[in-house]
Amino acid sequence: MSIPVVTNIELSSLSKLASGKVRDLYNVDDKTLLFVTTDRISAYDVIMANGVPLKGAVLTNISAHWFKVLQERIPDLKTHFITLDPPAGLSDADKELVRGRSMQVRKLKVFPVEAIVRGYITGSAWNEYKKTGMVHGLSMPAGLQQCSPFPEPIYTPSTKAELGQHDENISPEQAAKIVGEKYAARIEALALQVYKAGAAYAAERGIIIADTKFEFGLDEETDEIVLIDEVLTPDSSRFWPADEYEVGRDQNSFDKQFLRNWLTKEGLKGKDGVEMPADIAQSTSERYLDAFKRLTGKSLQEALQG
Ligand code: ATP
Ligand code: MG
Repeated sequence: MSIPVVTNIELSSLSKLASGKVRDLYNVDDKTLLFVTTDRISAYDVIMANGVPLKGAVLTNISAHWFKVLQERIPDLKTHFITLDPPAGLSDADKELVRGRSMQVRKLKVFPVEAIVRGYITGSAWNEYKKTGMVHGLSMPAGLQQCSPFPEPIYTPSTKAELGQHDENISPEQAAKIVGEKYAARIEALALQVYKAGAAYAAERGIIIADTKFEFGLDEETDEIVLIDEVLTPDSSRFWPADEYEVGRDQNSFDKQFLRNWLTKEGLKGKDGVEMPADIAQSTSERYLDAFKRLTGKSLQEALQG
């Protein structure tokens, strides 16, 4: 059974609560959401008109894999993951629409910060360091080269902007004001702990996780902080192929490089509603599938069969 490419999903047996750049959230019951990942792809902050085959299924199953691996390595970690099975009440037609790309998760109050952890200096952090010797206002050792590892991974939170707005870098102190002093230190420690465990696991499988963004929620009944959202996927992280890594230059992105190069070549960078040619969508899909296989040791097909 093949999984169709979809950029928009409308389920008839559940109500949609929210829709982000890539996911749609449906209400299952008071405590549960159906977290559905479409095949939408964004590059340079805009969403392409067409989708990437199997991307939603890859992202869903990578996150599910991480929830299992992280739980084993960090026994007291709480996550929002419930099951990859669809909810009992879902109609057959809706089951077909979400097959392979959905998980049930705990509905939680989301802390409005992006818990970003950086293991390597690149992107906006590299630009800031070149100018000021600092990253998010934190002093860094002199002599770091582009894409070299930090002596220790660092926590560089940002605000969580509404759809269409840009996230803003903030200091850990500002993040503490937003999430509350009571939770801030725990969120920072958890983000660093999960990144370190994940990066070590990925490194053994040929992938450098240069940096990543986590989101956390609050279980208001137990006052516990819970790891939510997608986790350590190529969309929420910078994945670099370890065998091509070289310090002192920009690295190729594991998954979006074909698309970025094509957009740049065509002068379409940042333009809305761009349709990718089929070969670009296909090679991008193959990179997502490759990331899945490297991380989990299984093909997506094998994972979907159980
Ligand atoms: P981007 O990921 O590109 O920053 P986005 O976060 O707006 O964009 P999606 O990833 O498409 O969009 O949507 C996922 C949404 O679901 C996010 O707003 C996230 O905060 C929210 N979310 C994740 N897990 C939970 C949860 N357990 N309970 C409630 N909301 C959640
Ligand atoms: Mg998201």
